[in-house]
Amino acid sequence: MEMGLKNRVAIVAASSQGLGRATAEAFAAEGCRLAICARNQQALNAVAEKIRGEYKAEVLAEPFDVTDAGAVRDFVNAAVQKFGGIDICVTNAGGPPAKGFLATTIDEWKRAVDLNFMSAVYFTHAVIPHMQKKRWGRIITITSITTKQPVADLVYSNAVRAAVVGLVKSLANEFGKDGILVNNVGPGYTATDRLKELAHSRSVASGKTEKEIFEGWSADAPLKRLGDPRELADAIVWLASERASYITGQTILVDGGLYKGL
Ligand code: NAD
Repeated sequence: MEMGLKNRVAIVAASSQGLGRATAEAFAAEGCRLAICARNQQALNAVAEKIRGEYKAEVLAEPFDVTDAGAVRDFVNAAVQKFGGIDICVTNAGGPPAKGFLATTIDEWKRAVDLNFMSAVYFTHAVIPHMQKKRWGRIITITSITTKQPVADLVYSNAVRAAVVGLVKSLANEFGKDGILVNNVGPGYTATDRLKELAHSRSVASGKTEKEIFEGWSADAPLKRLGDPRELADAIVWLASERASYITGQTILVDGGLYKGL
């Protein structure tokens, strides 16, 4: 399938590992030019070098924290300076701690809002004017299955990510006239370092081994396995492509059928 993505400029946030990294590599494989970021310069540079070597892609790699509004704006401006515009923006960040409600703290609530909601506001606010100039744009937020179905002990994610869906639908409504399509993808249990962290905290809380936790997650999904980060990345690339040109304001789960609703 011809995706029509060659030479498109794609920002992928929080992309030194896991879902962000797989997404950056998938865009590079389609011939995109890339702007990637994460907090750790060394890890980010290693990913940038690999992508340049393997895909011959142009890569801008800047270390910063996505909860820093000024740093996000500077990064978007640097990408525009280097590549002449922005076509695609994938928002992403680390996940909040796994907790039940009474174990939460006010500071952690504020941190979860900054990390998993405000970071998406910062990126979308900075990129949309550039997309309007081209009358073409794709924004895709990486959130979670929690946007459709709350997960036990992930109360920060269950609550805060719903705001991202409200943002996505609002932006889709407001900027469709400018050729900007805005969608949300919700991963189910996908094999990354984040999932290892979750398995560890579940194991401590429940007394089950981490292996049992992983087996339980696999058994819950009709496909009876965890997702591969590349499977989420492929869905994002498709949403960003010319092949998904009449889809906006949607949440698409990449969860092996884990979501139990209709
Ligand atoms: P991960 O922890 O493996 O990777 C997160 C990436 O974000 C890393 O590159 C990290 O350096 C970067 N990052 C974290 N905080 C940052 C910050 N403040 N500023 C800049 N970069 C930052 O996680 P993942 O599994 O790739 O998940 C990505 C997102 O998807 C998370 O929000 C996670 O909660 C969510 N999610 C993951 C799964 C899963 O099963 N893996 C399921 C549902 C939702």
